[in-house]
Amino acid sequence: MKNKKILVWFRNDLRLHDNEMLVEAIAKSDSILPVYFFDPRYFENTRFETAKTGVLRSMFLLESILSLRKAFQQLGGDILLVQGKPEDKIRELVTQFEIAEVYHHREVGPEETEISGHVEDLLWTLKINLKHFIGHTLYNKEDLPFPIKDIPDVFAQFKKKTERDAIVKSCFLAPEHIDFVVHTSWGELPSLKDLGFDLNTDTIAEQYAVGGEEAGLLHLKSLLAADADIYLKHSTKHTPEKPGFSSRLSAWLAFGCLSPRMVYWKVKEAEGIFGLNANFNQVLLGLLWRDYFRFMFKKHGIAFFQERDLEKDILDATEFVNPALEKWKTGQTENPIVDRYMYDLNTTGFIPHTGRLLVATYLVHVLKIHWTCGAAYFEEKLIDYAPASNWGNWASVAGIGKDDAKSKNTFDLSKQIKILDVAISDSPSFA
Ligand SMILES: Cc1cc2nc3c(=O)[nH]c(=O)nc-3n(C[C@H](O)[C@H](O)[C@H](O)COP(=O)(O)OP(=O)(O)OC[C@H]3O[C@@H](n4cnc5c(N)ncnc54)[C@H](O)[C@@H]3O)c2cc1C
Repeated sequence: MKNKKILVWFRNDLRLHDNEMLVEAIAKSDSILPVYFFDPRYFENTRFETAKTGVLRSMFLLESILSLRKAFQQLGGDILLVQGKPEDKIRELVTQFEIAEVYHHREVGPEETEISGHVEDLLWTLKINLKHFIGHTLYNKEDLPFPIKDIPDVFAQFKKKTERDAIVKSCFLAPEHIDFVVHTSWGELPSLKDLGFDLNTDTIAEQYAVGGEEAGLLHLKSLLAADADIYLKHSTKHTPEKPGFSSRLSAWLAFGCLSPRMVYWKVKEAEGIFGLNANFNQVLLGLLWRDYFRFMFKKHGIAFFQERDLEKDILDATEFVNPALEKWKTGQTENPIVDRYMYDLNTTGFIPHTGRLLVATYLVHVLKIHWTCGAAYFEEKLIDYAPASNWGNWASVAGIGKDDAKSKNTFDLSKQIKILDVAISDSPSFA
C-alpha cells in the first residue's frame, strides 16, 4: 500500500523510549497518527460512590500527555487529542486520515480489555486490523518459561522460575525521526474543569510527582545519581514505625511514562557501579510483583478473586455509606498510623507499600468492611493506580488472591495487626 498510515493509539504507554508499538508503527508505515482519547468513562463515578479517577491522578495524566505532546512536537509532529470513547470516535478518524492499521498496547484489566474489544469489532467492520502489543511488563509473555495458562499462582514459584529461565529484553531506543500525517488541528489539552473537577472543592495539595516521560526519566536518574545519599544505592534498616525505602517510581510506571525494562536496566547498571544492596533488590522485586499481578489477571480474569458471588456481593453491598468507612477514608479512625497514612493518601495521592498494607488490613480485618470498598477508594485516590496491582494487592490482603502462604513475601496478617497495635499504644511519629 502506498502512503501507508498507521494510527498509534496511546493509553498507559505515554513515552517514546522502549516503546515497541511506536517503533514498529514508524518502521511499517509512511506516516503515523498518534492519538489519545479522553474517555469519559474514566471520569465517571463508580458503583462504590467513588470517582474512577481523582483530581491528583488526572493532573498527572494531563502532565504526562503534555510531556508526550512536547516530545512529538520536537520531532516535528504532535499527538491528536480526542474527547470521547475510542469506539465512538475511531471510525471517523480512520476514514478521515485513510488509516491502514491501528496499533495499541493490550491491557489486562477487564474494563480496558472490553474497550479494546469494542474498538476491534468496529475496526473489523471497516476491514482494518487492530494490532496488539505487550509493553507494560518487565518480561514479555512469550519469553516466560511457561504459557500463560501454566504460570504458577504462587508468587515464590513464579519468581524462582522466571528469574532462572526468562530473560529481560533490552530496551527499544526512542525514535529520533518520525513522519507524522499532515494535520494542523491536533486538539487542545483539556483542563481539569473540562474533565469535571470543581476546583473550588477538589483539594489540590502537595503533589508528590510531576507526570510525563521527561520527569520520570529525571526521577530515575536522580535516584541512581552518584551524589544521591538517601536513595537507591544506600540500603537502610527499616522498622515498622519508620517506613522503609520507597523509590516512588510507581506513578510513572503505571502511566507507562517509564518502561519497567528501562528501570530494570538502569538499576542493573547502578548495581555494576555501587554493588548489590537491599534497595536495588526491592525495586527489582517490586517489578516482579507488578508482572505477577498482571499475568495473574491475564490468566484468570475475574476468577483471580477466589470469592464466590463476588459480583453479586458488590452489587448488593450496602457498605458504601457505612460511617466507619467514611472515617477510614477521611483519616478519622483514631488509629494514628492509619489516620496519618490516609491523610497522606488524600493529600498527595501516594503512600508507600507499608502504609497501603496497614490501612488495607485495618479496613478489612479490624473494621470488617468488604475489601472492594477500599480498593475502589484507592482507585480514586492513588496517582499510581493500576488495575491489576491495586485489585490484586487488595485481594491478597483480604486473603482471596491466588497466591498463598508459601510465598515468602505474601501478606502476613498477624504481623500487620501487631504493627497497628503498636501504633495505638505508642502513637509514633513517622512523618
Ligand atoms: C492495598 C494495596 C494496593 C496497591 N495498589 C497499587 C496500585 O494501584 N498501583 C501500583 O503500582 N502499586 C500498588 N500497590 C503496590 C505497592 O504498594 C506500590 O507499587 C508501591 O508502594 C509503590 O511505591 P514505590 O514506587 O516506591 O515502590 P518500590 O518498592 O520502589 O517498588 C518499585 C516498583 O515495583 C512495583 N511494585 C512494588 N511492589 C508492588 C506490589 N506489591 N504489587 C505490584 N507492584 C509493585 C511498583 O511499580 C513500584 O514502583 C498496592 C499495594 C497494596 C498493599
